[in-house]
Amino acid sequence: MGEHAILSPSGAERWMNCAGAPAMEKGLPDEDNEYSIEGTCAHVVAAKCLVERKQATAYVGQSFDGYKFHEDMAEPVQRYVDTVLRYADGGQLLVEQRVSIEIFTGEVGAKGTADAVVIRPGELALIDLKFGMGVQVRAARNRQLMLYALGVREEQELAYGPFERIRLVISQPRLDGYLDEWDCTAAELDAFANEVSVRADEAHGVMLIHGDGGDISQYLNPSDDACRWCKAKAICPALAKFVQDAAGADFSAVSPDPVMVTVPAENFSPALLAQKMAAIPLIEDWCKAVRAEVERQLFAGVEVPGWKVVQGKRGNRQWTDVEAADALLQRMRMRQEERYKMTLLSPPAIEKVLKSTPRRWKRVLDAGLIEQRDGLPSVAPADDKRPAWAPPDTSNDFTATEESMT
Ligand code: SF4
Repeated sequence: MGEHAILSPSGAERWMNCAGAPAMEKGLPDEDNEYSIEGTCAHVVAAKCLVERKQATAYVGQSFDGYKFHEDMAEPVQRYVDTVLRYADGGQLLVEQRVSIEIFTGEVGAKGTADAVVIRPGELALIDLKFGMGVQVRAARNRQLMLYALGVREEQELAYGPFERIRLVISQPRLDGYLDEWDCTAAELDAFANEVSVRADEAHGVMLIHGDGGDISQYLNPSDDACRWCKAKAICPALAKFVQDAAGADFSAVSPDPVMVTVPAENFSPALLAQKMAAIPLIEDWCKAVRAEVERQLFAGVEVPGWKVVQGKRGNRQWTDVEAADALLQRMRMRQEERYKMTLLSPPAIEKVLKSTPRRWKRVLDAGLIEQRDGLPSVAPADDKRPAWAPPDTSNDFTATEESMT
């Protein structure tokens, strides 16, 4: 997992889209959050499963990199492990493979770590575990995986190449077991190598300009892919301008100036709404980053005009000694049903309990006592893999109502 290259594979979407990002991020601290620590733990366990050939459940309760591998993580990690083993069948599996990318990015000693690599004559497969649930990661033209592929091809081509087929695979098991594969040709990888070289040269050049105190604003290029994980989000002038431009028209709608109160009709045109909708993820990311930076500065004792730290809402009341409280309530003659709330476990919880006896779980299923509501319709990008939702046909309902009124 650990990558210390400035132009790293995991940051490729950023520095290849925004040449100024490495300069802007320089010196800013890496900030781990609960999700990144959990992801690191999942990767460590996944690698152990593949190397030690054990089930993920064998590691439940153990701590890795300071994070306890909990039961809920075992199933998704196992899904990834099973996926890798399927790809590895009949091939040579390399786990957590350190790959040199120095000759492509020009950064001395630069390396990345590929989660799983499977090699067979003429074919290379790279399988990457994404443990997050927020953003669905696509395999097609995935720059992180393509950079790993360049490095692995360089190292292995002599023994197993030439590689005609390069399979890039994203396993995102906590997103309904999402699995995405994109087959990349050798020619596409060659073209990508040229692109990496051009973009890396540009990023190196911008770092030099920045180091000399020059203006690099023309090299900042905000976009979802570039900014999502950028450490400079809260301080980046280009991103702040993007947010202002995207939201500016709506600010005028709430202006106290009576002339500006009227919202122009084109503000509601589908085309403009689509444009604003596309800007929302980046604006939300920016809002989160700015809020986090304000918090960080206030907690560090820096004065941020107009803002302060206050004590949060008190937590829920709870017993200091559950047994003593229960004994007291019994002495007060409270009945058990008054003191305790007993509810039947949910179907997923019962399924877990009956995991070791599948026949009993099948009996539950066969009884037809479980229902599952359809998900509520929600807005998604047009290229989302799910089919478009069709509203239920209510024409018959309407007819019936009409008839009933006559
Ligand atoms: S926030 Fe976006 S535009 Fe600004 S430096 Fe980072 S990647 Fe570039």
